[in-house]
Amino acid sequence: MITDNIGRLELLIGNMSSGKSTFMNDILLRNVIMGKKVQLFQPGSSIRDIDDPSLITRGGYKILREPIADTDDIYRKVKQESEVIGIDELHFYNRGIINAIKYLVDEGKEVLACSLELDFRGNSLIFGDGPEGIYDLLPIADNVQLFNSICTHRDNGSDKVCGNPEARWVQKYYGDDVAPYETPLIELGDIRQSKGTWYAPRCRKHFKFYDKG
Ligand SMILES: [Zn+2]
Repeated sequence: MITDNIGRLELLIGNMSSGKSTFMNDILLRNVIMGKKVQLFQPGSSIRDIDDPSLITRGGYKILREPIADTDDIYRKVKQESEVIGIDELHFYNRGIINAIKYLVDEGKEVLACSLELDFRGNSLIFGDGPEGIYDLLPIADNVQLFNSICTHRDNGSDKVCGNPEARWVQKYYGDDVAPYETPLIELGDIRQSKGTWYAPRCRKHFKFYDKG
């Protein structure tokens, strides 16, 4: 398709609970208010809001969150008239997401994409079937923004969190223990302390780095 639009890619990468999706959704809503055609894709398995999983709304404007089963689903669901495309939680996709994003940009779309930057092991995020990962998208991005989170570590018995705003790492826990290095990279868990699998943003002082030998 020949289009007058020159595509654009903006990557919003960083830690969990760092506000990157909220930031993206705000830009998407502003584009809706400006009268642009907007689509928002999100991995179906990751939609976890309780009230209304399908809509982001403000002041009567709304965006439908379209659940995506796999990267092929993006080619099927993108509409020719769409001008701005949001893709949330890139880390749930396989490496085909790179070509899917290139395709959208080549089609003249403005693409905003959110992803974790590091996995729980403290390594650069690799897409499901690797070896490519988030850093293979950086060279084709027009803009990259890095989002840090706030460290929520508490010392034993303390009700105060660390609060360091440079919590760049995400720690995975099984109950009270840091999850072993060899456990699955993608594993759904809570974002609060619980008995099962859970994740939390950690600063350099409180992230337990793995010994990679
Ligand atoms: Zn900390």
